[in-house]
Amino acid sequence: MNATQLKSRAARLRARLTAMGFTKAGTPMVIDQAFELVAAEEGYRNQHALRASLPKETGIDAAVAIFARGAASAGYRMSSDPLAVDQAEDAGVLQWHAACNRAAWNDEAQILQLEGFIAQKGLMSEFGAYAHAAALEEAPVPVTKRLVTEEQIAFLRAVGYEICESEYKLPYWELEWDQGDAASEDFNTIDEVWADAWRDAVRRQFIAPAAEHSPIMLQAATLEATWGDEHGYYSREDWGQALALRNTKLGLYWEWVAQCIETNGGNEAHCENCGVPLDDGGCDGKCSICTNQSNAVQAADLAQVAYETFDFQAALGSNFTVAARNGWEYTSGSPQVSCTVFVENAEAPAEPTSKVRFTVDVIGGVASNPRVTS
Ligand SMILES: [Zn+2]
Repeated sequence: MNATQLKSRAARLRARLTAMGFTKAGTPMVIDQAFELVAAEEGYRNQHALRASLPKETGIDAAVAIFARGAASAGYRMSSDPLAVDQAEDAGVLQWHAACNRAAWNDEAQILQLEGFIAQKGLMSEFGAYAHAAALEEAPVPVTKRLVTEEQIAFLRAVGYEICESEYKLPYWELEWDQGDAASEDFNTIDEVWADAWRDAVRRQFIAPAAEHSPIMLQAATLEATWGDEHGYYSREDWGQALALRNTKLGLYWEWVAQCIETNGGNEAHCENCGVPLDDGGCDGKCSICTNQSNAVQAADLAQVAYETFDFQAALGSNFTVAARNGWEYTSGSPQVSCTVFVENAEAPAEPTSKVRFTVDVIGGVASNPRVTS
């Protein structure tokens, strides 16, 4: 319980007891009596003992505390008798609360009263210095806490959240498969954007809020979003066998996959493309098969550009035009990429198309020496 909760609890109690007709000497209960009731209920000697046990708060309670300490440090005393001072202080607090209650002053109005009093007593300069020191003491230490974890970001990327830059050069998120219909407002930092995307993902029920605190659940959800029905290597069949052999207690397929990946070296040790544990032949996070495939795709792209820009008429004669080509062919251990090209002869329109070979050398991501042979 903090001071605000104490206050609302006392207010509720007072409202209820007043409604039930409880009065003292014909007068309805005041909030201060309600404070005493809450204190008794909580097992404290009186409300001051209860208040002393409450956590520090900002707002009016802090202001009152600062003022009291400030006044005390300024030597503001009513009497030199410590007991009399305490009693007078207690009476003063009661009086102050009763006044606040009667006039229904809110925090703002109470602060105005306090400031007025402090100024009237000529204590404002001292109070200002005191408050300044107290604020420095209580100033929160800036902590650079990440709003979202790397694992959360991996999940968000897997389900399609991406960071874009607005026309004001500020980051925001978009759901890539939603044609920009689902998008956030602008934020100041990328971290805030991911935090907002996470809230959005939870709201859309892409993920249970609890996954935030469960790395295995989060990883399982990320895997499912990435692979869809089944992982490329750790199959549902293998999982079923592991369950049957009681090698696993994990009842969720994707949690089992996540655990398999972790026990076999983590994501870095698996092909990012097909999911198999990495061998020595691949590169860039891909296995050797996927590396060869992507090299072949790249080679075909380069050969296609060379084919489309090649001047067949210069090589064969202006009466020849290209009609079509067959698929690209590779020779293992050779940079040559070639295909069969069908050409028509304008001088012999009745004859069937003739065949030539188009070849280009692809070395280190560059295509060179395009040529045709018969
Ligand atoms: Zn692979």
